[in-house]
Amino acid sequence: MGFLTDSIHAGQTPDPTTGAVITPIYQTSTYAQEELGVSKGFDYGRTINPTRVALENNIAALEKGKFGLAFSSGMSAIQAIAGLLSAGDHVIVSDNVYGGTFRFFDKIMRRYGLTFSWVDTSDVKNITSAITKETKMIYVETPTNPMLTITDLKAVAGIGKKHQFITVVDNTFMSPYFQRPLEFGIDIVLHSTTKYINGHSDVIGGIAVTSSQELHDKLRFLQNAIGGVPSPFDCWLVMRSTKTLALRMRQHNENAIQMAKFLSTHPKVKKVYYPGLPSHPQFELAKKQMSGFGGMISIELGSLDNGKNLLRNVKIFALAESLGGVESLICHPASMTHGSIPLEDRIKLHLTDGLVRLSVGCEDPEDLIADIRNALEKV
Ligand SMILES: *Cc1c(COP(=O)(O)O)cnc(C)c1O
Repeated sequence: MGFLTDSIHAGQTPDPTTGAVITPIYQTSTYAQEELGVSKGFDYGRTINPTRVALENNIAALEKGKFGLAFSSGMSAIQAIAGLLSAGDHVIVSDNVYGGTFRFFDKIMRRYGLTFSWVDTSDVKNITSAITKETKMIYVETPTNPMLTITDLKAVAGIGKKHQFITVVDNTFMSPYFQRPLEFGIDIVLHSTTKYINGHSDVIGGIAVTSSQELHDKLRFLQNAIGGVPSPFDCWLVMRSTKTLALRMRQHNENAIQMAKFLSTHPKVKKVYYPGLPSHPQFELAKKQMSGFGGMISIELGSLDNGKNLLRNVKIFALAESLGGVESLICHPASMTHGSIPLEDRIKLHLTDGLVRLSVGCEDPEDLIADIRNALEKV
C-alpha cells in the first residue's frame, strides 16, 4: 500500500467486539485467562497491550519494516537498543547526535563498560578507521541536530553487513515520510515519536523498528524486561497523529524551503544550514536518500547577542526545546538542547553561541517569514 493508505489503516482493523472503526484505548493492566495456560494472547500490560500493538504495527508499516516496538520515550527506545550490547563492546556514534543520546552513552553506558568512538559519520572513512576488534554497533543520526549534516545510509549499511555490526539510525528528523533507513539496509530505525510522528507537542514517546526476527525478539525481551512502555492513551494519541503525518510533513517541508530561501538572502544571516538548499554541501546525497528535506533549519547570526535579539522579538515562533510539532518553535542549541556538550566539542561542530535553530511548523508560510523578518530587523 501507499504511505497515505498505510498511515491511516496499517495495524488498525475495526474492533472485533463492537466494530468501532478507531482502535479503542485498552486501559487495562491485566487480562482474564479462560483457564490455566489458556489466554487470548494477552497476559500483562507491560508485556503486551492491544492499543500499543496497533501503534507498533502502524509505524512498522510506515518504515517498511516487519516489526515495531513502542516505548515511553525516545530515550527509552535508545536504552532498549543499548541493551543489545554487553560490557566491553564498542560503538561508533555520529559526533553530533541528540544531546540526550550523548549524555546517556557517555554518562551511563560507559559506566556499564561500553566504549564509544564519536566520529563525523558524514565522511564514512571516519567510520571504517574507528573500527576495533570490539566494535558491535554503528549508531547514526542523519540529518544531525542542529548542524543538519547527512550520513550516507547505504554506505553505513554496507559497512555493517561486511563486519556484522548492528546498524542503528535515529530517523526522528525526517520521519518515515521522507526517509526510510531500512530500505537502505540499516538494521534498526528509531524515533522519538515526541517529535514529527506525534507532531502535536502533547506526547513523549519512542519507537524502534526492524525487519530482523532475531533483533526483534531481543528488543521485545528488553522492552518487557526493562519496562519503558507507553500508556495506552499515549499510543492512541500517536496513532491518531500518524494518520496526518504525510500531510503535516509536506507542509513542514514546503514552509521550510520557503523560509530557508528567504533566510539565505538576508544580510543579517551569516549562514543557513538546510539540506534542501543547493548550497548545502551534501545536497546531492540528501536528494538521493530523502524524498524531502523536513522542517528543521539552523542559522548562524554571528554572536550570542544577535541570537538573543532574534529569540526575544519573534511573535509566532515560541522559544522552546523540542521540535516537529505543527506549531513553530525556535531555540538556542548551545544553551538549551546541547548545553550538555562540552565547549571544545561544540566549537569543533560549529555549534556556536550565534547559532539559532528553527522548527518550522505548519502555519501559513507568509506569516512565519514575516515573523522572522520583523525579528531580524531588531538584530
Ligand atoms: C528528542 C529526541 C530524542 C529523545 O527523545 P525523547 O522522546 O525526548 O526521549 C532522540 N533523538 C532525537 C533526534 C531527538 O530529537
